[in-house]
Amino acid sequence: MKIAFFDTKPYDKQFFDIYGEKHGVEFKYYEAKLNCDTVGLAKGYDGVCAFVNDTVDASVIDSLEAMGIKILALRCAGYNNVDMKHAFGRIHVLRVPAYSPYAVAEHTMALLLTSIRRIHKAYIRTKDFNFSLSGFTGFDLHGKTVGIIGTGKIGRVFTDICKGFGMKVLAYDKYPAEGYEDGEKVKYVDTDTIFRESDVISLHCPLTEETRHIINKDTIEKCKKGVVILNTSRGGLVDAEALLNGIKERKVGAACLDVYEEEADLFFEDYSGHIVEDDTLARLISMPNVIVTSHQAFLTQEALSNIAETTVRNIVEMSKNGMCQNELCYRCGNTVDCKDGKCF
Ligand code: NAD
Repeated sequence: MKIAFFDTKPYDKQFFDIYGEKHGVEFKYYEAKLNCDTVGLAKGYDGVCAFVNDTVDASVIDSLEAMGIKILALRCAGYNNVDMKHAFGRIHVLRVPAYSPYAVAEHTMALLLTSIRRIHKAYIRTKDFNFSLSGFTGFDLHGKTVGIIGTGKIGRVFTDICKGFGMKVLAYDKYPAEGYEDGEKVKYVDTDTIFRESDVISLHCPLTEETRHIINKDTIEKCKKGVVILNTSRGGLVDAEALLNGIKERKVGAACLDVYEEEADLFFEDYSGHIVEDDTLARLISMPNVIVTSHQAFLTQEALSNIAETTVRNIVEMSKNGMCQNELCYRCGNTVDCKDGKCF
């Protein structure tokens, strides 16, 4: 099996080479992102492997189909960058549903602690032998309320971490999970209650038409003054302009963003010598109470190894059996089982 691998980074190769060799899958690594200009690079391959900022729209899918390519192996969980409706019946879309919820949940807490205890500022100060503490007053997480939107794999691990800190958890999920609630410590509520009562709000739901800009001007208005917004899910969940205004108006106390709506052209690359054209992102980064990481929450040894192993297994399973347990159904985003009943 030969697979064209797009948007390659050195840390991808390390793990994909190991599992590729083990299972007889050969990867051709391209640094280019997959889009309508680069899709031609996949000619002659049995499948393509794509990541979060590759653009798999209708035209890319049509080109892949015309080249006889039947496998699109996403090496991530989210698939909002794929036109799933168009893909149906044309190309099998495989994904890695879980690789390390701990990686993302732990990074979310790292961002929260960094921001509220001003670690990012203290690091720079002490590097310059400035040992003053002015401006570094934080607050205890113990006893505070965290609002968690999306209680899937990552949201649940983040819930446990917050419980460990002695926080009260208010949660919202479109499909509440049985056994998730824990007396007064963890409760499902509606989103309005989350916005009204939370000191910290953390997003762990997928990006859909329903959740796009779930953090917007109106919802920020409902929040407590000083609320901390955490987004390690998908950039489109937050209206960045509204967030910036919330920060300027001192309504939002801090924001930690591992993802950004317009990240596709910037994140994962070095723009340190360039002039960044995105004024909203530049202004957000300039704020002392905003921390931006460039979609790195997943980046642990464990997650990279799991991603490579599952992606290679998905490709082998699909090519051998014509089906794969991690294939997506375009209607509900679930696995191939849906095609056997629930959705059709
Ligand atoms: P998951 O599928 O296990 O959980 C998502 C949860 O969101 C589910 O419980 C689902 O019921 C809920 N949900 C669906 N629609 C909703 C809605 N309209 N409102 C509220 N909740 C809704 O997914 P996961 O593995 O926990 O991942 C969560 C998100 O994290 C993914 O969608 C992905 O975008 C993001 N992610 C980010 C990184 C990173 O590196 N920053 C890495 C992995 C995943």
